[in-house]
Amino acid sequence: MLQRGYTYFLFLLLILAGCQNAQVAKQQALYQGNEHLLLGNPSGATTSESNAGNYLMLKPQYALSYSRDRGTPNWVSWHVSPDWLGTADRQDNFRPDPALPESWYHVTGSSYKGSGFDRGHNTPSADRTSSEEDNAATFLMTNMIPQAPENNQQTWANLEEYTRELVEQGMEVYVVMGSYGEGGTGSNGRATSIDNGNVTVPARIWKVLVVLPQGDNDLQRINTSTRVIAVDTPNNNTVNANWSNYRTTVDAIESATGYDLLSAVPKQVQQVIESRTDPGPVQ
Ligand code: MN
Ligand code: MN
Repeated sequence: MLQRGYTYFLFLLLILAGCQNAQVAKQQALYQGNEHLLLGNPSGATTSESNAGNYLMLKPQYALSYSRDRGTPNWVSWHVSPDWLGTADRQDNFRPDPALPESWYHVTGSSYKGSGFDRGHNTPSADRTSSEEDNAATFLMTNMIPQAPENNQQTWANLEEYTRELVEQGMEVYVVMGSYGEGGTGSNGRATSIDNGNVTVPARIWKVLVVLPQGDNDLQRINTSTRVIAVDTPNNNTVNANWSNYRTTVDAIESATGYDLLSAVPKQVQQVIESRTDPGPVQ
């Protein structure tokens, strides 16, 4: 009798393990082949509503991990190539993201009003100009963080501009941007949250660019000589406008956030490109 119970128990464990594997496989299939997650899913985000701190959202224009409690993305990942750049006008239609689970707090276009922080895009408006629809997608509030105006309008704007310059020079770029920590200083002074505590103000804002000559089979072309630019900036109004002052390693961002960036790249290649601070040109 005891032995039969034991057999049933083992059998049950096997079924549970099978279900678990099927879940993981389903999640992986969901984002494998996704252009914006080609280099990996840094935090292992999933589309399960119970994963409120690390909720995966896939859009045609970008992919992100959302934190319900922070009211911001943890990170946003996207690809910049000539296909994404066109002549569409800036739509300026900041709005709640209808793709969020219904019961979650929805940050609105006016949630940041009077806070002293900008509605700072992760995927920039100017990176998505091939159609009005693509541009409008960047104005969903799930793509925003409360960003100190100087950081947004100077430091970050310059880095965004440089990214598109690289594309004009014949490159394509895989970008991941994220933020972490609590407390920044905007034009009304220091704050740890805004919008009645519904939106956390991050302390640090980082970005990683992987730069490749335009071509095919992008993941396979990443090797130990691939240019990787990593920056990590303070979310305040005294930040220097020159983003190159904040260059760091991917490894440093990984240890600050606990993520595994570029996880789809072979480990031996990650080891080399993640431990190097970019020495390249900055304009
Ligand atoms: Mn911005
Ligand atoms: Mn990594």
